Amino acid sequence: MEIRQVGVVGAGQMGNGIAHVFALAGFDVLMTDISEDSLAKAIATIDKNIERQVMRGKVLPADKRAAMERIKTSLKLADLGQCDLIIEAATERETVKQAIFEDLLPHLKPTTILTSNTSSISITRLASRTDRPEKFMGFHFMNPVPVMQLVELIRGIATDQETWESLHAVVRKLGKTASSSEDFPAFIVNRILMPMINEAVYTLYEGVGSVKSIDESMKLGANHPMGPLELADFIGLDTCLAIMNVLHEGLADTKYRPCPLLTKYVEAGWLGRKTQRGFYDYRGEVPVPTR
Ligand code: NAD
Repeated sequence: MEIRQVGVVGAGQMGNGIAHVFALAGFDVLMTDISEDSLAKAIATIDKNIERQVMRGKVLPADKRAAMERIKTSLKLADLGQCDLIIEAATERETVKQAIFEDLLPHLKPTTILTSNTSSISITRLASRTDRPEKFMGFHFMNPVPVMQLVELIRGIATDQETWESLHAVVRKLGKTASSSEDFPAFIVNRILMPMINEAVYTLYEGVGSVKSIDESMKLGANHPMGPLELADFIGLDTCLAIMNVLHEGLADTKYRPCPLLTKYVEAGWLGRKTQRGFYDYRGEVPVPTR
């Protein structure tokens, strides 16, 4: 089945990036959110980010104009009824996601493919509550979406081959690369990345190294482009903790126990860059380590 019209639910940092790459690749995009403000901010962000690509010579001004015209917004989920593909990118809470799919279902065509951009929630469980578990998949983009090459495609237990192949074709049309993951907690990237970040926080917690020495060690000693604590601040410490909890509960293994220091930062509301403070303090000219 050809996919032309794409519905994006949730216009936050992931939703706007997803709308951006789909519109540039020639898909018609309808983006919804519960907040009018989020929709307005998302359009402004997409405009600014595509403009940056124009300045760098990566996108032609005419292609930018065409892409911006292909993106429409709405506050009503029902408006997504004619979409061929839905990408849910709302807040990482299972009850929120379930309610969205429940509200959407009566309006959809029988052929519409449903996907979630969740970082960690079970695709099989989300799918089982819809009328089409065979047409449901995990569609996990990386942040920032326009920059990162990888998309993780996650197959629920009931996902059929046609849906699987349709989404691989969509990823090729976006000019990105798909990796295939079975549906187990946190999939591939976060299953490997988050325990490393959590271990970096334990290394800090136990006084083995300071923020600066841990990040420098991994940058210069393991050739990582960012230190693990700097990366945690970029992702959001609440998101890191949520994913560690999913791993800990889902795999029932103490090796995934979230570091108490990570919990403490989240309890303080020091969530990283988005709140201007995390393992670094971003309120001044240069980031200053907080430990
Ligand atoms: P965000 O907080 O920036 O955006 C979430 C958006 O969802 C907000 O605009 C909010 O208004 C909207 N929303 C909440 N409830 C809604 C509802 N019922 N209907 C419609 N919209 C609703 O979050 P984000 O970082 O963009 O994350 C979105 C999803 O992407 C999450 O599932 C997250 O796990 C996943 N994800 C995040 C990252 C990352 O690095 N931030 C990476 C990959 C995947």
